[in-house]
Amino acid sequence: MPEISRPTYDFIVIGGGTAGNVVTGRLAENPNVKILVVEAGEGNPKDVPEIMTPARAFELRNSHYDWAYQTFFVDKPDYERVEKPNTRGKVLGGSSSLNYFTWLRGSKGTMDAWEEYGGPNWNWQGCKEYFNKPATYHDDHKMYDARFSEIGCDGPVHVSHAELLPETESFRQALTKAWTGEGLVVKEDIYDGEVHGLTHCISSVYGGVRSNSAAYLDGKDNIEFMFSSVATKLNFEGMDNENAVVTSVTIFDQSQVSKTIWVRKEVIISAGVFETPKLLLLSGIGPRRELARHGLSPVIVSEHVGDHLLDHPILPHVFRLKDGTGLDHVLLQKGRHHDAARAQYEKDKTGPLASGLLGMVAFPRIDERLSDHVQYRKAKEENGGKDPFGPEGQPYFEIDFVPMFCDAFQWHFPVPPEGDWLTVIVDLLRPQSKEGYVRLNTTDPREQPAINLNYFSNELDILALREGVRYIDQILMEGDGMKDIIGEDYPWPMPRESDEEMDRLIMDRAQTGYHPCGTARLSLDISQGVVDSELKVHGAKNLRIIDASIIPVIPDCGIQNAVYMIAEKVRHTWCHKMNANQDMVGC
Ligand SMILES: Cc1cc2nc3c(=O)[nH]c(=O)nc-3n(C[C@H](O)[C@H](O)[C@H](O)COP(=O)(O)OP(=O)(O)OC[C@H]3O[C@@H](n4cnc5c(N)ncnc54)[C@H](O)[C@@H]3O)c2cc1C
Repeated sequence: MPEISRPTYDFIVIGGGTAGNVVTGRLAENPNVKILVVEAGEGNPKDVPEIMTPARAFELRNSHYDWAYQTFFVDKPDYERVEKPNTRGKVLGGSSSLNYFTWLRGSKGTMDAWEEYGGPNWNWQGCKEYFNKPATYHDDHKMYDARFSEIGCDGPVHVSHAELLPETESFRQALTKAWTGEGLVVKEDIYDGEVHGLTHCISSVYGGVRSNSAAYLDGKDNIEFMFSSVATKLNFEGMDNENAVVTSVTIFDQSQVSKTIWVRKEVIISAGVFETPKLLLLSGIGPRRELARHGLSPVIVSEHVGDHLLDHPILPHVFRLKDGTGLDHVLLQKGRHHDAARAQYEKDKTGPLASGLLGMVAFPRIDERLSDHVQYRKAKEENGGKDPFGPEGQPYFEIDFVPMFCDAFQWHFPVPPEGDWLTVIVDLLRPQSKEGYVRLNTTDPREQPAINLNYFSNELDILALREGVRYIDQILMEGDGMKDIIGEDYPWPMPRESDEEMDRLIMDRAQTGYHPCGTARLSLDISQGVVDSELKVHGAKNLRIIDASIIPVIPDCGIQNAVYMIAEKVRHTWCHKMNANQDMVGC
């Protein structure tokens, strides 16, 4: 069929999410290429106040913009917990349009562990400059060290330190006093690969609005979009050097009509950690047994597709705060404070609604505390004498202090009708449990995949979370400053004194840290993973995966900066190669 009679693009990007938009925006810097972005959600995040207004982010859970996955959290022989919704963004910008803003990159030691999978360019040194590329850092009031501008000086995503709201000033002071009173440090520069201490958080918020990956698309007119459209299958024709060649993509468009769109150069899958492996499987790329189970003919037998699902299990819990020191009375409870905050935001996009709510974050280690426990000592011994949770001195936890009740982490409990509250989120950064997986439930592309996070298959993770909660709660409940403003647990007392009851509580209440990754991991060859060091799918000629699925070792913090980094890095190395080949000068 002559090309003219069928829709054809140089590149088709499947998923206009966090990574997808980075790649699209960068490719589109070459005006000679024609790109199609297929996005399952709508294309209008800028018109949605809940998306753009930072303090309304928690309202997006289970909304029209959420894939709202059903997920196995715990899947043990004697205990099973399945919950819904597990949130992922379904709108232009993907999860960067729904996330909770923290802009972090984690430890050098953890990034260096990627090298085992990606080779010598995938380590802290090889990735550092690409962490910096996506953002522009702003410090309008010149409150922080000028060196912060290095973490982002010219990128489209605008980031800044979280707003120091006057409403929560006394809370921040009390927290800092309690923390430093324990002899612990405040460290503002946690972007140098050494992550520890208490810090003021940088967020993907600036000027009172969310900054998401859609910013990469501004002003590019060589991109076409299909919104509310779902890619359902990659179609292959023939082989090139024993590699399968993708020639087209089947797409359900917004009218539910199935269309075929053709590609000249490459297809890039950026559909995220759950949909990327699903699309690969539906297209015949996956483990032989899994394809056979669904009667799918293998195009590429790739045994790791859908495996190695990683995430941070978190234990959110809630304390009462002294009246007037939190934000519940301003943001969640109707009244004059609420009205004033709305009026202020409407006037000039400032005030509590302009805040991402997370002002301070801590990164402690608790190896000394765990040394009292025989299970830990045994695990350390089995790990060659190295601490399993932070072998290179990495933190054990990211602890988020949100001075408000956050129902996005504990939707099982009603929002307290009165008072101010503190949500403490203890996020275990290097879980020891066996990885989870994504599989097909059916071959109907409209059905959700089966997702199993497989938390706590290793009991050591329960011990670490239990002791982490006790550690931080002691600082909060007994530390100078905090002890004067903290009150009772919500909704009922935490059984801190009982190991058994704490363990049960953790199994019952642990949630996702919203950082799933790893289901199409980076690898040296197909026996280790799904994509190579340029993120090309092993066994395919012109197919790349660029999203959180490729992450082989979970970063020890929120992962959005890492996802942006991955897209910037691969685009850079790939374009260099194409330029050298005179394939796409200017890419
Ligand atoms: C609620 C929440 C809070 C978070 N908070 C933080 C935080 O504070 N800090 C941090 O660092 N990280 C945070 N994260 C994590 C971070 O935002 C994500 O890891 C990252 O954005 C994932 O990027 P991605 O490109 O892999 O996928 P996504 O951004 O999810 O993009 C995937 C895109 O593909 C589309 N799509 C899927 N399937 C198809 C298909 N078949 N056809 C067409 N389109 C398709 C989706 O609709 C989506 O737009 C959070 C995530 C969530 C969900």
